[in-house]
Amino acid sequence: MTKRVVLIGHPVAHSLSGAMQQAAFDDQGIDATYELWDRPPIGLADAIAELRSDDFLGANVTIPHKERVVPLVDRQTDEAHVTGAVNTVTREGRRLIGHNTDVPGFRVALDRLVGKQKMPRNAVVLGAGGGARAVVYGLITEGFQRIIVFNRHLHRAEGLVKHFGRTASHMELRAMPWHESIIEAELAKSKVVVNATSIGLGTGDTPIPGEIIPPELLVLDLIYSKTRFLREAEAAGCQVMDGELMLLHQGAAAFTLWTGKPAPLELMQQKLQEARAAGLLSAEGEPAGAGGPATPGSGSSGPVAAGGGTAVAERADPSTDSPDGEPGSTD
Ligand code: NDP
Repeated sequence: MTKRVVLIGHPVAHSLSGAMQQAAFDDQGIDATYELWDRPPIGLADAIAELRSDDFLGANVTIPHKERVVPLVDRQTDEAHVTGAVNTVTREGRRLIGHNTDVPGFRVALDRLVGKQKMPRNAVVLGAGGGARAVVYGLITEGFQRIIVFNRHLHRAEGLVKHFGRTASHMELRAMPWHESIIEAELAKSKVVVNATSIGLGTGDTPIPGEIIPPELLVLDLIYSKTRFLREAEAAGCQVMDGELMLLHQGAAAFTLWTGKPAPLELMQQKLQEARAAGLLSAEGEPAGAGGPATPGSGSSGPVAAGGGTAVAERADPSTDSPDGEPGSTD
């Protein structure tokens, strides 16, 4: 019987995950389909309940559901528990297990961005959603000693900091209000900045103005495109990377969890890049740029400039409800 794997998000149209996962199933002789389920928050519990049937190998969960899905699974792995976010679900009988493969995906991206330099100690994280939780945990476990989290709704950043209380007890993890002057002051003390907001997803918006980005920062945008944020950071003299490598490696880890097989990484990367070149929209990023990927994949080395134009072939409406019930951008 053909098994099913689904991506649950809102919206999920034109997801790049489908291109890479379906190709991987086909390549490895796994009789499975990867489907996109667009479910608003109100439909999440029913969607998760459906996964308990024998038809399913599991699911990916994406924006804006990664935190909401936590109480809906029966067990969480350590990484899902410690982050409070789930992006991958597997099934054991009728029991659902929540995993967080964004964490290893982020680590691969950070290691590639840092390259041969000494791992920095100070970072600024913009955003406090499910993706930001994986980023913060990845930074803590890489030995960062000071992480400042900025978010539009300060209480969400404070909730994140509280959640990591014990894990971060040996270092400084702080939430700060989203004021440009405060962000600028913190960037001046940091070596790494990560955009984990969805600002710039399918739009030309940027979380912070280019003028406040100091040179020589290492800049990662989780959005899978040449965002304005990355272009302006690069113009300021920073090394930049987009979300492709993280997307690839979180997807590869999920593939292995569903199938028990190593992921065909090169093929998955090739399919991602083909989909991107075809102008599809990533569920974890934004529309493809005409100039190709802004990051190297498994076969490349070192960060790659995010310059160049972005040709938007298709665009999903990025508006949806935030966990607070307020409008927010999603993939
Ligand atoms: P969530 O919905 O959980 O969080 C969204 C975040 O963006 C929140 O911090 C939210 O702030 C902020 N935000 C959204 N709209 C605005 C706005 N207009 N102004 C200010 N802040 C805003 O999403 P995720 O954490 O799951 O995803 C965040 C981004 O990271 C997305 O672009 C996603 O595609 C990307 N991502 C990429 C991955 C990859 O593999 N490359 C993996 C995971 C995520 P507030 O709380 O105030 O609403």
